[in-house]
Amino acid sequence: MTDLHEQLARLYDVQQLDAKALSIHRHTRSVPQEIQKLDSALDKFQQAVEAKETEISEAEKTQRSIQGEIEQLDEKRNKLTMQMRSVKTNKEYEALDKEIEFLDQKEAELEDHTLGLLERIDQLKVELDETSEQLKIQKTEQKSRKKAYELEKAELTKSIKAMGKQRKILCQDLDRQIFDQYQLWMKRRQDTYLAPIIDGACGSCQMKLPPQLAGEIPRRQEIMRCPVCRKVLFSTPEINDEKE
Ligand SMILES: [Zn+2]
Repeated sequence: MTDLHEQLARLYDVQQLDAKALSIHRHTRSVPQEIQKLDSALDKFQQAVEAKETEISEAEKTQRSIQGEIEQLDEKRNKLTMQMRSVKTNKEYEALDKEIEFLDQKEAELEDHTLGLLERIDQLKVELDETSEQLKIQKTEQKSRKKAYELEKAELTKSIKAMGKQRKILCQDLDRQIFDQYQLWMKRRQDTYLAPIIDGACGSCQMKLPPQLAGEIPRRQEIMRCPVCRKVLFSTPEINDEKE
């Protein structure tokens, strides 16, 4: 294989493989980050569930202690009511009555507080159910995403291997010098090296080439670069035919 354009066309196939491999690497690198994002979303739901559970148990504790206070007030009131039966004077009676009234008032306040707490507990339980449900959905999603990622990774590893073999075969007959130039360019610029001529234009930057140059390139056995993007131009019958 001595024809330069045949060489370049083959090197172009190598370039396509390298581009594909690069995009696979980029993709597989981005997936763990996506999984990490899902993980932290999961953590947030987990924390929200725990916070709701704590809030509920705190509220229930407060509610129980208020209930205890109410019971104590009831006991006191019962005692006062008993005392009332044995009072002798109006003054004593009034004093007890006032005390009972005070207890009633306090109990009413505590009852209000209890009602408020019970409402809040009900609301928190609804919220807890919702958050738990979301957590469950996220967990399922996370699991299937990780599984899909593992499968995808295995697939991609397989195709990277196959591409490596294909690349080796393609590189076998390549001119060493051209191949080295390609490798060097790719390493330095992280960009493609070759551009096919498509419809008389550079296949990379799309610049329309002077017709004389475009017509001349396929017959020239030397490296010719696009005047604009500096990529090495080559002509392949297949690519030009496809476009016509
Ligand atoms: Zn160009």
